[in-house]
Amino acid sequence: MSETGSGNFEGGCTCREVRYRMTSGPMFVNCCHCRWCQRETGSAFAINAMIESDRVVLTSGAPERIDTPSNSGKGQQIFRCPKCHVALWSHYAGAGEKLKFVRVGTLDEPDRMPPNIHIFTSTKQPWVVLPPGMPAVEEYYSSAEMWPQESLARRKALLGK
Ligand SMILES: [Zn+2]
Ligand SMILES: [Zn+2]
Repeated sequence: MSETGSGNFEGGCTCREVRYRMTSGPMFVNCCHCRWCQRETGSAFAINAMIESDRVVLTSGAPERIDTPSNSGKGQQIFRCPKCHVALWSHYAGAGEKLKFVRVGTLDEPDRMPPNIHIFTSTKQPWVVLPPGMPAVEEYYSSAEMWPQESLARRKALLGK
């Protein structure tokens, strides 16, 4: 992504036991307004940056894997700080462990990673007003249609599809 394509992105949990560094910008950033994300964050949406797992380097601590039900029925693995239990990233069944969905709010500078698309807007809180022209879909979308070519190439290199 042009806005976020370069530099390191540092982040971590609240107690600072777990610290990580993203070594590049993400492939794409989803802002998800589904009921599951609302419940899991206790908020109106979750912001997930999709990135190759090996581009997230742990610099401190060891997140704990918590198997958690997901909307798909296939489950997700949420990685949390073992002390303060803040969620740092997830793996989902589709792409598995090669792809991390990093929770953008755990970055030191989350402002540097704004969403590229809003998804599951069918359950968006009505007081959340999206900027005009912002890509938004009622449920999910096809990456082939929405992602920039550079990100699709990264995904293909990672997953072979
Ligand atoms: Zn912590
Ligand atoms: Zn969601």
